[in-house]
Amino acid sequence: MNAVWNGTPGEYLDFTRVLDRHCGCEFGVLGVRLTRCGAHDLTDDQRALNGLLYGRRLAATLRDEEWLTRRPAAAGRTASIPGERRK
Ligand SMILES: [Zn+2]
Repeated sequence: MNAVWNGTPGEYLDFTRVLDRHCGCEFGVLGVRLTRCGAHDLTDDQRALNGLLYGRRLAATLRDEEWLTRRPAAAGRTASIPGERRK
């Protein structure tokens, strides 16, 4: 890994588990790596690692907002319905 991990230790642990799960590297009989897979190539790409962290952190927010039909009213404001007359 030639790039810097900018996430938390827990995020790094999750990342290494995913790498192990999706690794396609080929190893020789003595355990020497013969070919390097795309997943491990990713560990050298700083922009890709930063993008993964950004997407991972953004995903929870997007899932939470997926079924919202309107934004919650800001505190101190009252929602109005278009066309409604105020008295
Ligand atoms: Zn690999």
